[in-house]
Amino acid sequence: MGAVSEAESGREFGLLVLPGDGIGPEIVAQTLRIVTWFGNYLGVQFKIEHALAGGASIDEQGAPITDAVLEKALRADAILFGAVGGPKWDHLPRADRPEMGILRLRKDLDLFANLRPAVNFPEIVAASSLRPELVDSIDIMIVRESTSGVYFGEPRGISTDESGFRRAVDTQAYNETEIARVCRAAFEIARRRGGRLCSVDKANVMETGVLWRTVATEIGLEYADVELSHMYADNCAMQLLREPKQFDVIVTDNLFGDILSDEAAALSGSLGLLPSATLNMTDSNRPGRALYEPIHGSAPDIAGFGMANPLASILSFGMCLNYSLNEPAAADLLNRSIRLVLGQGLRTADIATAGDDAVSSAAMTDAIIAVLGEISVGSQRMRQA
Ligand code: NAD
Repeated sequence: MGAVSEAESGREFGLLVLPGDGIGPEIVAQTLRIVTWFGNYLGVQFKIEHALAGGASIDEQGAPITDAVLEKALRADAILFGAVGGPKWDHLPRADRPEMGILRLRKDLDLFANLRPAVNFPEIVAASSLRPELVDSIDIMIVRESTSGVYFGEPRGISTDESGFRRAVDTQAYNETEIARVCRAAFEIARRRGGRLCSVDKANVMETGVLWRTVATEIGLEYADVELSHMYADNCAMQLLREPKQFDVIVTDNLFGDILSDEAAALSGSLGLLPSATLNMTDSNRPGRALYEPIHGSAPDIAGFGMANPLASILSFGMCLNYSLNEPAAADLLNRSIRLVLGQGLRTADIATAGDDAVSSAAMTDAIIAVLGEISVGSQRMRQA
């Protein structure tokens, strides 16, 4: 096994693992096998600590996440999160439910930049709902502001007005610091990718949109090497379906990002393939606190059968290699291995089509580890030649 970063070998990396509920522990167990492989390959000593979150934490500790776990999260170099929730806890009031565990983590760690790639692997292009020629090889990164905007703005609530009618209010509010920091994170990401950033807003009808566009343009002056464009959110929703390949990186607010990233996710095909990273990226040279998780939930309908697709979780660790460990070559190696395995025809049940024999989560991971071994030996030979 070769080492791509001999200069940095021996470094330690603290990884807090929160498997959660349902298929969370199953997919995280597979991902940790990949973590172990990369630990050996890169010469990185992963200091892994396990803790409870979600329903598992409610059962053991009486809360979806405890202060002690949040303390560990603040100290860790990165967090690998599975998924939380399930019917067992559905009767609880909203504030006590498993999902509050992940919301509190994001808020307490000030993880303001949510990165959701929409990538279509050509090997399974048939899984997308769009025509293959439209989505084949798309590679979009959506950067969504995730700690402010209408989901947090005050005042909010439902009241009764003077005429006795019920009235609901939400508040969309952003200050320039919140916009600037997520735009800067997106510019940094665009700089490391295709060098194009599209900032999405509703500057035609919303004051927050006017400020968003102004601040994005100002930050753009610091990034002459990145081509900045602006688009209205409704047009972006249409363009993602009409011509998705025009996009490299998209940056947008919390609400538009929520909707557009789900739409972009549909371009990829299966929920079981979609990773995410949520970062506190305040310094361009350091990724800051970071949480990596698949975008899917705990899938209680298939939990316990060992059949969940581990790829979204494994690809989330790939994002950790890229952003937190600053090992883009290692992330690329992992991506290539996954594509080769899909090219060999391996499919978990969620991405299998008629005639495919679906494999288990463990068999999918076995195949990736085998291919990682083969490619890394190959590239080691090339380096020695
Ligand atoms: P879900 O994402 O768990 O499942 C939706 C469908 O996709 C199911 O049919 C499921 O079997 C399938 N699926 C999801 N991930 C898969 C994988 N890796 N491999 C194969 N198939 C997969 O969404 P849901 O059913 O709406 O929610 C179930 C629970 O998860 C709920 O309690 C919900 O609140 C919670 N949830 C948690 C998170 C999170 O932890 N971040 C996110 C979304 C939903």
